Amino acid sequence: MADDHTTAILSFEVFPPKKDDEFEGVYSVLDELSKLQPAFISVTYGAGGSRSKKTVEIADYIENTLGIQAIAHMTCVGNKKESIDQVLAELKAANIHHILALRGDRPAWMDDEQYDNRDFQHANELIAYIKEQAPDFHIAGACYPEKHYEAMSMRADIARLKDKVEAGCEQLITQLFLDNDAYYRFQETCLANGIHVPIHAGIMPITSLKQVETSISLSGTSIPKAFSDIVARYSGNPEDFRKAGIDYAIRQILDLKTYGVDGIHIYSMNKPKTTRTIMEAIR
Ligand code: FAD
Repeated sequence: MADDHTTAILSFEVFPPKKDDEFEGVYSVLDELSKLQPAFISVTYGAGGSRSKKTVEIADYIENTLGIQAIAHMTCVGNKKESIDQVLAELKAANIHHILALRGDRPAWMDDEQYDNRDFQHANELIAYIKEQAPDFHIAGACYPEKHYEAMSMRADIARLKDKVEAGCEQLITQLFLDNDAYYRFQETCLANGIHVPIHAGIMPITSLKQVETSISLSGTSIPKAFSDIVARYSGNPEDFRKAGIDYAIRQILDLKTYGVDGIHIYSMNKPKTTRTIMEAIR
């Protein structure tokens, strides 16, 4: 845990736009986000690994043009050893030394054969491989305050998380959550099970009803009453919904800071205006 409530590290996540003609827009998003002085910005890896070059390009801009630490995501799914080696070489050449190593999920277009045809089954195997090939990379991993959707129990998930840390994962970033108590319970469980690496709390501002149907449903995150009240009250009014969603994220972060979390990782959704509103309120 952080020493006091003012020291939580603040960071953001961005994603490479899916369409090539929208790609250039990500640079102005990053320019705006950089003014908020995050400790690092992480860049997602397209499901299935088909657009890894975009992740590297964006991470390169963050690290070398903006002078902010970049964390490049990387997945097992969709990658063989050779493509992992290729991306590691590209990251090294771009002076990027931070990776968020993930298993990934199966994209809708991927068949069983492609999904199974990977060299690393789980994130812990990818982490061990990277540490063996390139020990100077600093590795982060994902974790789930309300357990991963495939895990039989929280106990089983925590055991696997410990494998991930023992494989060389030096930092964890959580799945989005709306219930801080779930996060606090999770952090205590990690400590009780000997997981002592910093855990960054992933907070996603939910600013539209659509996001409730996509991000929240996909993540399996539980919806506390305070949030379902927002949905019930503002679902017919997009602007008020947006404001209430941002306010909810601000209250969550302030509470987490008071508790003394190691870090807050804001899923920016490539929206600098929303991220700025949150940063101004929490600093
Ligand atoms: P793992 O750690 O492999 O865990 C997956 C499941 O398998 C869990 O149930 C776990 O308990 C179990 N397990 C773990 N290790 C073993 C083992 N050795 N043997 C048996 N079971 C095991 N997806 C993307 O495609 N691109 C991204 O950029 C991306 N970024 C993300 C960032 C964050 C912060 C988070 C939380 C998720 C992100 N995801 C991303 C989604 C992620 O890929 C999925 O949540 C995926 O289902 C699990 O990935 P993982 O690395 O946690 O997997």
